[in-house]
This record gives sequence, C-alpha cells and structure tokens, in this order.
Amino acid sequence: AEPTCTDINAALKKILIFASQHRGGKNIEKRLELAENLPTVYVDPKQIQQVFLNLFLNAVQAMQSGGTLTVKSGLAKVDGIDMVQVRVTDTGQGIPPQILEKIFTPFFTTKAQGTGLGLAISHRLIEQHGGRLSVVSQDGMGTTFTVELPAYCPGQ
Ligand code: ADP
Ligand code: MG
Repeated sequence: AEPTCTDINAALKKILIFASQHRGGKNIEKRLELAENLPTVYVDPKQIQQVFLNLFLNAVQAMQSGGTLTVKSGLAKVDGIDMVQVRVTDTGQGIPPQILEKIFTPFFTTKAQGTGLGLAISHRLIEQHGGRLSVVSQDGMGTTFTVELPAYCPGQ
C-alpha cells in the first residue's frame, strides 16, 4: 500500500475506539493525551493502524483484571531529528527481562492462542519507515511501548 501524509492522532482515535469494543477491553480505563498540531508522518495509514491495534490489544490482554491504558502523542527529538512519538502504556502484568529480549522475534508468544507475529511485524514496519519501536517494562507493574516516526512528509 502507498504511504501518504498521515495524521497519527486520527489513526490513534480510530483504533482506540475499535479496540475498546474488543472482548476484555471494556473494564479498562482509557486515557488519551494527544498533542495538538502534530506534523503528519509519511506512512500507509492502514499499516500504522495495524501497529496501534497490535499494541492496544496486547495491552488489553495484559490487563485481564482491569487497569489503565494511556495513549500519549507528542514531538520528540531523536539524534537531532524531529520525530512524532506515541507512547502506549498499560498497567498490566509487565514483561520479565528474559522474555523482553524475545518479544520482537517472529512467532514468539506466551499466549495459548497467540501468533507471536504482532510485534515482529510492527517492529519491521516502523523501521521500514525510518522509525523505531521500543519497549520498557517493569515486571508486575506494566509496560510502555514507544513508536517514533520521522516528523516529515514530502511536499509539506
Ligand atoms: P501475541 O500477542 O500473538 O503473543 P505479539 O508479537 O503481539 O504476539 O507479542 C509477543 C509477546 O510479547 C506476547 O505473547 C507477550 O508475552 C508479550 N507482550 C506483548 N505486549 C505485552 C504487554 N503489553 N504486556 C505484557 N506482555 C506483552
Ligand atoms: Mg499481539
């Protein structure tokens, strides 16, 4: 699919509504903290929505007994380059260190019904667009995934 100048906040709102209707997503508090006037990024909107869907569903699945999902967008400088940054934070079970180093590997899953493909595909997709997908987690406390994409769109 074709990349175009994509409004990240619009993609986040759309996917958050969709993920909220997902089984298990109902007893979770959602906090949306979106920066205004963010520059667009040059990605296929369908693909970036897929990435956020993966992150939101993983978060929901990590909070089986409820919790808070915080989605925050903003601008950040990475190595001197302006990036649009999205942080997806859950208050779920967290990821132990020995698991953390494997989560971007294709087919790695700890779920009975998991494919282990969501993060591997998302990671590759973001890197293909000149961005980064990183994670910080505290076992038993929760997890934050950070998506960064160049704040750049040709012709804008
Ligand atoms: P799947 O969801 O099919 O297992 P993913 O690639 O989306 O595959 O995730 C891989 C693994 O990473 C999961 O099985 C889980 O162990 C871990 N993981 C991903 N996101 C989270 C999260 N928010 N909290 C806790 N563990 C997570
Ligand atoms: Mg997943």
